[in-house]
Amino acid sequence: MRFAAGAWEERAVTEVVGENSLDVVVVGAGFAGLYMLHRLRGLGLRAKVLEAGDGVGGTWFWNRYPGARVDIESQEYSYSFDEGLEDEWDWSERYATQPELLRYANHVADRFDLRRDIVLNTRVVAARFDESAGLWRLERLQGEPVSARFCVMATGCLSVIKEPDFPGQNTFRGETWHTGRWPAEGVDFCGKRVAVIGTGSSAIQSIPIIAEQAAHLTVFQRTPNYSVPAHNGPIDPATKAAWKADRAENRQKERLSAGGFLSSDSNPVSVLEVDAGERRRIFEARWARGGFAVGGAFNDLSLNLEANAHAAAFVAGKIADIVEDPAVADTLTPKTYPFGTKRLCVDTGYYATFNRPNVTLVDAAATPIQTITPTGVATTAGTFEVDAIVFAIGFDAMTGALLRMDIRGRNGGALKDVWAEGPKTYLGLMIAGFPNLFTITGPGSPSVLSNMVVSIEQHVDWIADAVAWLRDRRMGEMEADQAAQDAWVDHVNQVAAGTLFHRANSWYLGANIPGKPRVFMPYIGGVGPYRLLCDEIAAGDYKGFTVSGAVA
Ligand code: NAP
Repeated sequence: MRFAAGAWEERAVTEVVGENSLDVVVVGAGFAGLYMLHRLRGLGLRAKVLEAGDGVGGTWFWNRYPGARVDIESQEYSYSFDEGLEDEWDWSERYATQPELLRYANHVADRFDLRRDIVLNTRVVAARFDESAGLWRLERLQGEPVSARFCVMATGCLSVIKEPDFPGQNTFRGETWHTGRWPAEGVDFCGKRVAVIGTGSSAIQSIPIIAEQAAHLTVFQRTPNYSVPAHNGPIDPATKAAWKADRAENRQKERLSAGGFLSSDSNPVSVLEVDAGERRRIFEARWARGGFAVGGAFNDLSLNLEANAHAAAFVAGKIADIVEDPAVADTLTPKTYPFGTKRLCVDTGYYATFNRPNVTLVDAAATPIQTITPTGVATTAGTFEVDAIVFAIGFDAMTGALLRMDIRGRNGGALKDVWAEGPKTYLGLMIAGFPNLFTITGPGSPSVLSNMVVSIEQHVDWIADAVAWLRDRRMGEMEADQAAQDAWVDHVNQVAAGTLFHRANSWYLGANIPGKPRVFMPYIGGVGPYRLLCDEIAAGDYKGFTVSGAVA
């Protein structure tokens, strides 16, 4: 296995944090960590960011696989906190590529002079709350601990890859890659026989590009995904001008919307209330618009199986239209779960790629992968000889990055024990028993069901305001109440139970990781209502949180 990884360079801890402890330590320098640092600096607090990678950008630092790009329109998938930044940054495509997104993250780091407080190549392995000192003490893979009154986990929802564990994989003599740990220098597949294992978003974006390069591409699909066309391209000047003209209003609408973005607004009509012609017209218009628009075609697609079946049938029809071989089209058509209950994929030429003579689809549900041999991938139907294998097998989502660290709160209580039956948080922001520990876009918040940048900004602002509020009152500790947390967890589960999302074995439910508790992790109640609730709680002197510990 070869992964791109930064060298674990050691830096003296005094260079990192000075002799004294910090006010706030932030873990992760992705979009969340960068903005968190900016806000904390603005409050005059002493803060540092510890980042495992050798650059900033988080998701967009690690996911460099061919074809990687955002699936929410670039103009919306960007920070809104600074008008100057918005004015000067000009997105080139409707859906920005990973290199452009990484340039953006680096631009933000430079523009706001963030780098002097970011320590790269520093993996945090443990965080322990020292009750007597009222400090979080973080241990790094190498180097001395770092201490701070507050700890903010900006560690990302999809940052820990699912490690491949195929029998025989270590005997493989060719190259292997994981989409979530792609090397910065890229991979040349020219003239090679390549296997891609997996057909989630990462695979669906990379397969068309790899197919253009490789001598032959074999795709191993265990579960087909619903994918919709991006209709990507340059953003035309009129669209840019319109966005800019109404930008402040657009941004506010995003914050109060269901998913944190406007480009795929939801049609407030039931699919069951319109006739077949109208139904078709609306689905077609949404398909032509591109991106997640199809998901918002009607208001009951994620609530009602009968309604959902119309969307599923529409996409199945599109697959049948695009894919020339009916047997291949049939294999590519999802049949075992409702439309949209696994994260919808947004593609450029995915289904048409299966019309290429150098692409083979293997149904790894009907003929499962048995072993990886020194020269290929063996299924129950035979062995496929390849020179390289791409594992596009996903992530240990939402809880992976937090549980990989040994996080201990009051009385040494371990997060892994508290979350043994699934993550439990208050608002996805704090955890009872873990004072002064904040999680940005944590489980129990809209997070992965939303435009991540909008949700990140909301959490960062809420956390910064909470820390400032404590400071102004000279209070040292804030902690979620157990009762408030229990009520929130119940609410998160109840809202999810009213949808069809439980009917898919998705990573939203942890179903992709053997042994992970099956719990719907994000909050599906909507970005806008969630924001208003968080604001109301803050305005009510942080109802549901206990504030204590006067400091001099
Ligand atoms: P994923 O959606 O979890 O897909 C993983 C794929 O690998 C699935 O098809 C899965 O099949 C397959 N797989 C896993 N283990 C396997 C095994 N042992 N044998 C055979 N197949 C196996 O992961 P992802 O594609 O990396 O995407 C994860 C999420 O990241 C997305 O849903 C999205 O939220 C985000 N993402 C976003 C973008 C974007 O914004 N454009 C791009 C990429 C990713 P099963 O379904 O049968 O388990």
